[in-house]
Amino acid sequence: DTIGAHLDRMAALSPDADALVVRHQNVRLTYAQFNVETDRLAAGLLALGLRRGDRVGIWSQNNSEWVLTQFATAKAGLVLVNINPAYRTHELEYALNKVGCEALILAASFKSSDYIGMIRQVAPELDRCQPGRLESHKLPTLRTVIRMGEDRTPGMLNFADIAAAAGDQHFAELERLRGELQFDDAINIQFTSGTTGNPKGATLTHHNILNNGFFIGEAMRLTERDRLCIPVPFYHCFGMVLGNLACVTHRACMVIPGEGFDPEGVLTTVQEERCTGLHGVPTMFIALLNHPRFKEFDFSTLRTGIMAGSPCPIEVMRRVAGEMNMGEITIAYGMTETSPVSFQSSTDDPLERRVATVGRVQPHLEVKIVDAEGRIVPTGTTGELLTRGYSVMLGYWGDDERTREAIDAARWMHTGDLATIDAEGYCNIVGRIKDMVIRGGENIYPREVEEFLYTHPRIKDVQVFGVPDEKFGEQLCAWIHVQDGETLTEREVLEFCQGSIAHYKVPRHIRFVDAFPMTVTGKIQKFIMRQKMIEELR
Ligand code: ATP
Ligand code: MG
Repeated sequence: DTIGAHLDRMAALSPDADALVVRHQNVRLTYAQFNVETDRLAAGLLALGLRRGDRVGIWSQNNSEWVLTQFATAKAGLVLVNINPAYRTHELEYALNKVGCEALILAASFKSSDYIGMIRQVAPELDRCQPGRLESHKLPTLRTVIRMGEDRTPGMLNFADIAAAAGDQHFAELERLRGELQFDDAINIQFTSGTTGNPKGATLTHHNILNNGFFIGEAMRLTERDRLCIPVPFYHCFGMVLGNLACVTHRACMVIPGEGFDPEGVLTTVQEERCTGLHGVPTMFIALLNHPRFKEFDFSTLRTGIMAGSPCPIEVMRRVAGEMNMGEITIAYGMTETSPVSFQSSTDDPLERRVATVGRVQPHLEVKIVDAEGRIVPTGTTGELLTRGYSVMLGYWGDDERTREAIDAARWMHTGDLATIDAEGYCNIVGRIKDMVIRGGENIYPREVEEFLYTHPRIKDVQVFGVPDEKFGEQLCAWIHVQDGETLTEREVLEFCQGSIAHYKVPRHIRFVDAFPMTVTGKIQKFIMRQKMIEELR
């Protein structure tokens, strides 16, 4: 199926089921209404002169316009380009120049002067162009900037104008496209999180992300009765695939608690909207569990959800399953390049399996674990995880060289992650190859040391990474975030380690911090911490 055809069918099956609730905008749409709205927007995009295969950027936090645009662009055969709301001029230029967007949709909540300033820098001709038409030397293709919300901004179209511009011929064109679009057309460019460096733009098809969303929803046993709270960003696959597409493939309701992540807003939304599911990266769940009024909220409707995106501490999983009534929570593992999920635990797996592994491989995918020479390793041995199948992206947009590095001639995607798979097929993510520390010839997986330190009652969160060392090649460094109102000394940490973990795994450098450098998806950027330590130790 294409995404549009699929939504049509879901709306025909359950027209009156709730499709979308956006709390901060007071938007509530049934599947029938949602389908009509996305048709109107799709026809409007065609009225702007956009054609099948054109790229449309969206630079915004979570809101109803985002969800409508996601499905409208797919219906119109346009390629949606997710732009991180935290991007600034440098990254915006990279994102827009790299993919050549014809149109850019901008959030209402962005202070227009700042954002227009940034677009002007990237596209200096904005001043001289006619309203809504942006001719630019630097961005040869960007023609139209569209602003969400009520405000009129000179030089830009308004989001509401798009749907209004749709005439009969545009609806007819949309009808024609329904028969023409192919499930393996590119429809989405998603940038990776930038956890290890510059984000890369993965080109994805209907087939890639629609199937993935479907299997994700299957593992969670989603149905028409489910209401999924989605506080994770749409610009990232976690929001738009694990959230929106998992819901739409199962006629479940997408419940959006706010523009960004606010612990109180999420807790209130779960209670008031009677949510049955909740998604989050581990840092988000940690923030919810630590909320001062956590105990006062009602979690009785909650059942399931996904924790993913980075290593999920076992203790956090246990607490979420118990204290938030999410006994059916699953862990997913994936990457933007594979649509994203390739492993997911199932609600049917016993909780102990679910807290300690990322589950088994998704249906219709192949995986293998190989050593540095590319040979398959024995069961239970650590090596690089490779995946193959419907979920693998077409490639990095406009970057054949990096695509060839990531996807080999036999179409295996090299994930760059270290993993083990046991005899029953359960997978454990050991860490990233880039993060593995080699100290005096010993391989150290920071995750293992983090899990150990995390058991200290006064440690709230901890990150472990390697820094260059003259004598040992590399040494371990730990950044520790102490529980609120508590204190901890370096000596106490070292005493805690002594005798409990091998001497070479004991961090050589310890720092106490209040926060870690993070991507907007809540992923911790160890490469920035490493750079800071290298400067400090110099
Ligand atoms: P970049 O590729 O730009 O450095 P990134 O790899 O973080 O950023 P994403 O595609 O968002 O970008 O994230 C995929 C990565 O996240 C995986 O390769 C893996 O390292 C990590 N990851 C995802 N899910 C899990 C999980 N459940 N447990 C451990 N790690 C995970
Ligand atoms: Mg990556």
